[in-house]
Amino acid sequence: MREPVPTGARDECGVFGIYARGEDVAKLCYYGLYALQHRGQESAGIAVSDGRSILVSKEMGLVNQVFTEARLAGMDGHLGIAHVRYSTTGASTWDAAQPAFKVTPSGSGIALAHNGNLVNTADLARELGAAGDKCTTDSELLATLLARDADVSLEESLARTCAAVRGAFSLVVLDETTVYGARDPHGVRPLVIGRLPRGGYVLASETSALDIVGAHLLREVEPGEIVAVDEGGLRSRRYAAATPHACLFEYVYIARPDHRLAETTVYAARRRMGALLAAEAPVDADLVIPVPDCGTAAAAGYAEASGIPYAEGLVKNRYVGRTFIQPTHSLRELGIRLKLNPLRDVIEGRRLVVVDDSIVRGNTCRQLVAMLREAGAAAVHLRVAAPPIRNPCYYGIDMATRAELIGSGLTIDEIRDFVGADSLAYLSLDALVATTRRPKSSLCRACMDGEYPIPVPGEQVEAGKDVLVKLRR
Ligand code: SF4
Repeated sequence: MREPVPTGARDECGVFGIYARGEDVAKLCYYGLYALQHRGQESAGIAVSDGRSILVSKEMGLVNQVFTEARLAGMDGHLGIAHVRYSTTGASTWDAAQPAFKVTPSGSGIALAHNGNLVNTADLARELGAAGDKCTTDSELLATLLARDADVSLEESLARTCAAVRGAFSLVVLDETTVYGARDPHGVRPLVIGRLPRGGYVLASETSALDIVGAHLLREVEPGEIVAVDEGGLRSRRYAAATPHACLFEYVYIARPDHRLAETTVYAARRRMGALLAAEAPVDADLVIPVPDCGTAAAAGYAEASGIPYAEGLVKNRYVGRTFIQPTHSLRELGIRLKLNPLRDVIEGRRLVVVDDSIVRGNTCRQLVAMLREAGAAAVHLRVAAPPIRNPCYYGIDMATRAELIGSGLTIDEIRDFVGADSLAYLSLDALVATTRRPKSSLCRACMDGEYPIPVPGEQVEAGKDVLVKLRR
């Protein structure tokens, strides 16, 4: 009996693509990945082409562990794509690292890097037959779909494939001569285009990766759009009508604060989250402190709006990755102590407003409150810059199973008791939406309000996708 593509091999990833004649493209890919490291810390990979052949190099580890000067020096080319990966379950292996690579029946190569999560992988694998059986990740499946068409160009095959797959995907794809970018019709995961000052184009999950290579932001790749960059410049085609539903959680937690969109920067949105939180949930306190780093901008916004002084009460060890992105349970348990240390002389005897970006499982939060009390806090009032996370994500963000999401099973009073805070308040969904400057209808809010913009097959939920997705914190 044929095994379907495992539904658990899901990524929260960062992608990068570049076409730039006369530049050291492999090194620019490296810098781009460096700026996107927060989106995936398990593996890193780069594929480059010199116009005749494609070279792929990928390995498990952080970007600066995987790529040495010598390794990059052997990668000549003027176009490239790159990827950092976080696997949400199972296949944390070299085979699952990206870019994926396939050869078409006509003998050309295709490299592909993917951020997101497909929801009809089992159907697509069945359609592919024996070739689908061998696919263990969405990216491999997508590359196999692209490579099977001998009779059409890669651009045409990409349009067909994007129209056939369901779910969230932001892709960068490379053949010997062209770099492509594509985004699902809902535009759930981000993808932007930038232009290099000496000519050439860059595609990236976030604008920080444009900044680091000196590219200026042109625009987002539109939902339902394919862009292609080659010797002739940049061109665009639409394979589906846009029905935008950008991920709201990118604003809250995933994206770097310096990520810029037409409507706002993520930093400015987070400041507004804090200001609105102060208006919705005021409290009599002595100090506002952030949970670094994601709570920092919101805490500054809360302090400014409330008039309560802001201070850094927690020191973060910057060399420990996000607890959100640690793959094993034991590491997550250690995470809070590895990562944060309270400043007793700031905290002792003070009534604190502690601003965090979100609460997923509640365990980290509980440890944090206990740690602050041990350091002498007179009161801990927890303020959260997002509504309760009540539902799992099927579109590429690894959160928790529904049963493990503390916001799914408990009331706010019960959560307050569980984490041990003196008071607890969340930002309302409407206020959070307002901080993005986008209409509510153009945002995916499913983990908060349960309205999934892309139908998730019941079989996937019932078959245990909830169980396969690992906890982040
Ligand atoms: S369910 Fe939540 S995390 Fe997933 S895409 Fe939607 S808003 Fe983002």
